[in-house]
Amino acid sequence: MQLLNSPNPATILYDRKSMPLLRLAAPGGTLVYTRPLARLIEQLQRLPGVGPKSAQRLALHILKRPEEEVKALAQALLEAKQQVGLCSVCFHLSAEPVCDICKNPSRDPQLICVVADSRDVIALEKTREYKGKYHVLGGLISPMEGIGPDHLHISPLVKRVAQQGVEEVIMAISPSVEGDTTTLYVGQLLKPFTKVTRIAFGLPMGGDLEYADEVTLARALEGRRELE
Ligand SMILES: [Zn+2]
Repeated sequence: MQLLNSPNPATILYDRKSMPLLRLAAPGGTLVYTRPLARLIEQLQRLPGVGPKSAQRLALHILKRPEEEVKALAQALLEAKQQVGLCSVCFHLSAEPVCDICKNPSRDPQLICVVADSRDVIALEKTREYKGKYHVLGGLISPMEGIGPDHLHISPLVKRVAQQGVEEVIMAISPSVEGDTTTLYVGQLLKPFTKVTRIAFGLPMGGDLEYADEVTLARALEGRRELE
């Protein structure tokens, strides 16, 4: 026999500790959201820049869309995750073993721009000014977070530069303690093989490349100076 006060499974209080959903529980122990909706909001809230209010707005929007559209979204999420990996040459995001930029014969192979993240490649590509190739380090050296040079794609870069006879390597890493450490460290390793420059930043300390507008970024690239 079911007790009258046993909670309805559809609206049961989500009780996994430390889950943000706990905060969504209304007084009286029932969820503000029915469970599948709560789960969707919880997943959306894990995304960067998505707070509880945006997560709710997105979830309610998704529920209103036709099922076909929601299926396409779910499929795109899964396929992107399953199919996109890293280019074996430059470590930019790519669905192929070698990315389109590395394969493109009209890009100057003598010029390599070193960035921290694939987001920076995308930001620089949007300027349409840069015609060389890239190398994505996959992060910055940060002793505080336990990230050393071996955690980044630094040795493939040194190998690439040493073997290919590259004319110039442009360090395009935004200034910060970690950014400067990484730029200097990589710069020292590359100097025996090539000219190393650093892009000129009119950006504040810690300013991300991807937040710079295209004109600022193009100017930063143009005004690059040799690394001392
Ligand atoms: Zn590539």
